[in-house]
Amino acid sequence: MNPRASAVPGQLDEPLLTLSLAVEQSPVSIIITDPKGNIQYVNPKFEQLTGYTSAEAVGQNPRILSSGELPTEGYREMWVTLTAGNTWQGVFHNRRKDGTPFWEKASISPIFDKQGKLIHFVAVKEDITERRRAEAELRIAAIAFESQEGMAVTDTRQVILRVNHAFTEITGYSAAEAVGQTPKLLSSGRHDRTFYADMWEGIRRTGSWQGEIWNRRKNGEVYPEWLTITAVKADDGAVSHYVSTLTDITLRKAAADEIELLAFYDPLTKLPNRRLLLDRLQQALAASARSKRQGALLFIDLDNFKLINDTLGHDQGDLLLQQVAQRLASCVREEDTVARLGGDEFVVMLLDLNENLEEAGSQTEVVGQKILQNLNYPYALKDQEYHCTPSIGITLFRSPHKTVDELLKRADLAMYQAKAAGRNTLRFFDPEMQASVTARTALESDLRLALRERQFELYYQAQMIGLGQLTGAEALLRWRHPLRGLVSPLEFIPLAEETGLILPLGQWVLETACAQLADWALRPGTNHLTVAVNVSARQFRQADFVDQVVEVIERSGADPQRLKLELTESLLLDDVEDIIAKMTALKARGVGFSLDDFGTGYSSLSYLKRLPLDQLKIDQSFVRDVFTDPNDAAIARTIVALAQGMGLSVIAEGVETEEQRDFLAGQGCHACQGYLFSRPLPLAAFEKFLKLGA
Ligand code: C2E
Ligand code: CA
Ligand code: CA
Repeated sequence: MNPRASAVPGQLDEPLLTLSLAVEQSPVSIIITDPKGNIQYVNPKFEQLTGYTSAEAVGQNPRILSSGELPTEGYREMWVTLTAGNTWQGVFHNRRKDGTPFWEKASISPIFDKQGKLIHFVAVKEDITERRRAEAELRIAAIAFESQEGMAVTDTRQVILRVNHAFTEITGYSAAEAVGQTPKLLSSGRHDRTFYADMWEGIRRTGSWQGEIWNRRKNGEVYPEWLTITAVKADDGAVSHYVSTLTDITLRKAAADEIELLAFYDPLTKLPNRRLLLDRLQQALAASARSKRQGALLFIDLDNFKLINDTLGHDQGDLLLQQVAQRLASCVREEDTVARLGGDEFVVMLLDLNENLEEAGSQTEVVGQKILQNLNYPYALKDQEYHCTPSIGITLFRSPHKTVDELLKRADLAMYQAKAAGRNTLRFFDPEMQASVTARTALESDLRLALRERQFELYYQAQMIGLGQLTGAEALLRWRHPLRGLVSPLEFIPLAEETGLILPLGQWVLETACAQLADWALRPGTNHLTVAVNVSARQFRQADFVDQVVEVIERSGADPQRLKLELTESLLLDDVEDIIAKMTALKARGVGFSLDDFGTGYSSLSYLKRLPLDQLKIDQSFVRDVFTDPNDAAIARTIVALAQGMGLSVIAEGVETEEQRDFLAGQGCHACQGYLFSRPLPLAAFEKFLKLGA
């Protein structure tokens, strides 16, 4: 049988012709063999697919195509099926004539004649190489997608299309919950807008981004994740999808943190260790050299700590050290460092102190005293209270030339001086610093004593109008110290403010001045006098300041119209609404206000306009140099104009010469106070001055 010859149209019946054409033009390859399996016919598709021509194939066994890579059992099973008269279906791995492999899906059927005799086998075969490859790729992709890393695929609008199992494990969101959402679902709120903007900018520029990001799981837990986002581009270069891979790095991070903890922190107290302290001190030195601000090191050593270890055991000692650590941390600001050097040695590093060495010294002393006090409270150990004290050595630092070791050594030396001085105390390394701190401490305790022993006096300085009319007095505080003599308020007012002693002191001044007013009101020669009382910011800041003043006025019987409170501009740095409310309340009672030292502070005009003031007091520095410094003359002139513009009266202080008085009068300032008329005088002398003047 020659199939090509039999396919000639016209020699076949109509149905056979159709069949023949169908076979010839079939898109699948068709092979017909004799019962022994030898090829009798192949169609053109076979020729095209295998590379063998019909002539080459006919007479051969189809095994010429075999790649030899399929197991022989496969063929045996095929023959069993076929010889039983059934159709066999299966897959062959074959080779073309040129040797290239391909996959074929075959369907082979035995053909019987009318008598039931096997005459042919017909094989219909389809090339499935491409399909198998695609399927394999899909399988690989699916396996890869289900990797250990979380994965999410989004469209260009960032809507999640698909997530894998690991994604669900990490985030807690199932595929059903995540698909259709955007990754905002996971947002922890820990990154600001610029973080995400930078991320997307990176993806746009380079096609991908990776980094650490904080996300939030479904259960609310925030966790660190390593995220990679890659843009998937189509052939035309346009982005079609984004693929994100994410790994939970909580553990990795925790391990890294743990390592850091071990390297830089003391395991017992969790405080920075010596290494971290030295590191921070190095940085602090550099920073303070730039900022000019002082820093301080406090070296703290517990007194007789060995005793507790020896008597109560090391675990009790550890407990004590932990409590000391907590107390130290509570004594400083967050930016300061509390470190444990080892044993019972701690170091506190203070940053950003005042630029002025002495100021910084007293700031440090305040912290040092606080530490002393706090470490003196009893400690709660396992079955008992324990008392323990520290010795503290202090050194200040700013210079970039000192080394950190040198600084530590200084603080350490100072600490030994504290021990030598009897323990439970503090010492500065710098003797001058120590001297000034000692002096301040002495002054403070003297001040307290002075309050109790009534060593204070009020002096009165005349306030004049025109050439010699006395309108009242400013009350000025004096301290008659039993040993030092008369101490200037310039020396003790700042300390009194810092320590809060100004409150009882100010109260005393106010009471004394009001009593004086009430007394003067009884006599014809003095009943017109006003008294100006200086009020410091700290006093005015008290919530019940208004009530205090009202009470003093009522108790003394003084006429509030004759009382003038002098405030300074430094007060205006506070809550202005509160200041206005207090001033307004007192003003309603008749009390007047003068703004002291005017021109030296920072008051802005807009503030000034809102304050219910009565008077501006030109600061004495402008008066002093009114003839030598043209600026000061201009300022004095401006203040007068300002007061007039705002409907306030104006007074000049520190007027020592007639020229100064005349100049001021020429500018329109007729009220004066100063040595030209009278120094501040004790009461008796002031009253004598009154009589002389009157
Ligand atoms: P202040 O309120 O500016 O007081 C004016 C200061 O100038 C007074 O110094 C006064 O003695 C001085 N003085 C007066 N006339 C002249 C003069 O012609 N030439 C010169 N060179 N100086 C003159 P004082 O009494 O030593 O007081 C100093 C500062 O202490 C006061 O400055 C005030 O801020 C504060 N102070 C005084 N007494 C009190 C008080 O009772 N309470 C409060 N909070 N502060 C007070
Ligand atoms: Ca004053
Ligand atoms: Ca003044």
